[in-house]
Amino acid sequence: MNLLVLTGAPGAGKGTQADLLVENLGFHKISTGDALRRQISLGSEIGKQASGFMEKGQLVPDDVLLKILKAELEDGSGEKVLLDGYPRNLAQAETLETLSDQYPVKLAIHLDVDQTLLKSRICGRRVCSSCGSPYHLQYNPPKVDGVCDKCGKGLVQRPDDSEDKVAVRLDVYRRETEAVLEYYRERNKCVSIDGSGATDVVYNRLVDVVSGL
Ligand code: ADP
Repeated sequence: MNLLVLTGAPGAGKGTQADLLVENLGFHKISTGDALRRQISLGSEIGKQASGFMEKGQLVPDDVLLKILKAELEDGSGEKVLLDGYPRNLAQAETLETLSDQYPVKLAIHLDVDQTLLKSRICGRRVCSSCGSPYHLQYNPPKVDGVCDKCGKGLVQRPDDSEDKVAVRLDVYRRETEAVLEYYRERNKCVSIDGSGATDVVYNRLVDVVSGL
């Protein structure tokens, strides 16, 4: 199994792009954010430990994430795996490195988007309450207002997508996650892609990188 780490600030479009790679190029996606939200809706012990941190926009403790990551990797199928949302700090990058015999990181792809665009992307984001498909009120609206194109269920705003939580998340990104980019840069394993512009334009940039692997 080879891992591709998809990294970037909240709102950079990691989830949207990862879904396209899954649909079109047969990648398997592991999203720690989605996995945590699943645990919360199940009311599990992990979900209980995570929910307070997530609601505030803070990082969930590393030991909780390691449990999630291991479970997801063990369930994971296929050769090409995308990691969306992990590692999010230096300690997590080092932890992932300890698993490299079994799960080596081939490349970290950084979706690069400026602050102003990030904020407007997150505040207008809506997700399906049932299947989790992402939309944007302005950039990617559903065909019918408030209804998921894929499964017909209602769209909601994530509790951590409100303006005050977004500020915390962007701050956490700058303080903790940017170091992860540096970690992979030093190992010649980081490529930055311009993440601004329409979804399909960004996707084409991504495919150029991924197909060269
Ligand atoms: P985004 O990338 O837009 O911030 P995610 O869905 O990836 O959204 O993550 C939402 C929240 O889940 C984060 O703010 C954090 O609380 C938690 N989370 C996800 N992945 C991690 C991680 N690797 N380490 C710590 N917390 C995480």
